[in-house]
Amino acid sequence: MDMQEILDEIVAHVAPLCLQGEVASYIPSLGEVSPDSFGICVAMADGEVFGAGDWQKPFSIQSISKVFSLALVMSYDYDSIWKRVFREPSGTPFNSMVQLEADRGIPRNPFINAGALVVTDRLLSITGDAAASVRGLLRQESGNPEVEIDALVAASEADHGHRNASMAHLLASYGNLENPVDEVLDSYFKQCALAMSCEDLAKASRFLARHGVAAGGTPFLSPNQSKRVNAVMLTCGTYDAAGEFAYRVGLPGKSGVGGGIVAIVPGRCSITVWGPALGPNGNSVAGIAALDEFTAKTGWSIF
Ligand code: GLN
Repeated sequence: MDMQEILDEIVAHVAPLCLQGEVASYIPSLGEVSPDSFGICVAMADGEVFGAGDWQKPFSIQSISKVFSLALVMSYDYDSIWKRVFREPSGTPFNSMVQLEADRGIPRNPFINAGALVVTDRLLSITGDAAASVRGLLRQESGNPEVEIDALVAASEADHGHRNASMAHLLASYGNLENPVDEVLDSYFKQCALAMSCEDLAKASRFLARHGVAAGGTPFLSPNQSKRVNAVMLTCGTYDAAGEFAYRVGLPGKSGVGGGIVAIVPGRCSITVWGPALGPNGNSVAGIAALDEFTAKTGWSIF
């Protein structure tokens, strides 16, 4: 199998799809990204890296950061987070609040915004600076010391953050935040505003393809924890399109409204795709098509 040839073909095939869907425009700085960018990177568990298209161009990782904050919390504090957040698919959009009140302040899973706020809150209590901890992990695992928070995106997110703020207040009203609402929101907006390329992200998520083993060869998560993070990605990583994603791609995956998606082939590789135009559920249209083609061509899926 010639991996480079596969990736080059995928880039050629998905290019027309880049103009389907809408670039996220809820904050001005994301709306300015050109929709016709597309990149793909495959980081093999054994270290080889392949890329095609705009695979070295940084983009806003947004909700993909939720994988790393969850992994960090689990690495410090294996199980206690699950008293504060469920691990069931929500079947609702990432920023929905309808279930939060019905469930008395316990979010359905750590990958919708409400759940991610709880995870970030826990990380803030553990490390004192949640966004810096996520950035530290991403720098270490990607090998890129220049991974940085885009201050403009973070500020813009805060300026347009009424919905996330109302969610954080609702969580606090149920006693499900340990830190002041403003501090939790600040950390959450910053972690979402990290800018990385497909290459950085594929390398940084490789520990999930290596049963928890970090870049330096030491365990970051146990094999069981790594399995659990992958399981939550499969069932909840693409929100109310998780069923469709599993059907088309057949891998654990996590998307962000910046247009990136990270997918994991346990034991084999991590893959990152990026195409900024999003479908109705907030997932990259070209990105899902590329992963669909990748798993069809390679036969690599968990099923
Ligand atoms: N920062 C975005 C938000 O909180 C992240 C959402 C996403 O990427 N799905 O709304």
